[in-house]
Amino acid sequence: MDHEIELTRLLVCETELQAKIVKGFLEENGIKVMVKGLDTGGSVFGGAVEDAEIEIFVSVDDLEKTQELLEALEEEEGDPVPEWICKCGEEVDEGFELCWSCGAEYQEPTGE
Ligand SMILES: [Zn+2]
Repeated sequence: MDHEIELTRLLVCETELQAKIVKGFLEENGIKVMVKGLDTGGSVFGGAVEDAEIEIFVSVDDLEKTQELLEALEEEEGDPVPEWICKCGEEVDEGFELCWSCGAEYQEPTGE
């Protein structure tokens, strides 16, 4: 007996790139994803079609887990690096994880 999978729309992406990031991320975590509106055939010439709406569907059974995963993804992205002083003495603007001068990685301040 086939159990028909019920799909629910997870979100609508404005760009193909965003849709691909979400799809790839979810698939890595074992979620089956269906994307509607994404042109999978032929060559893609660097860019999204304007006004394109790309819809991402997941199984209703996976919805809860999917939302948790997306929240985790957003938290990761929403953690900007503050302005910091590199060990080489240069000041690095916020949002940059690497020193523009020597290429060192951002170190969280250890605090005193
Ligand atoms: Zn540096």
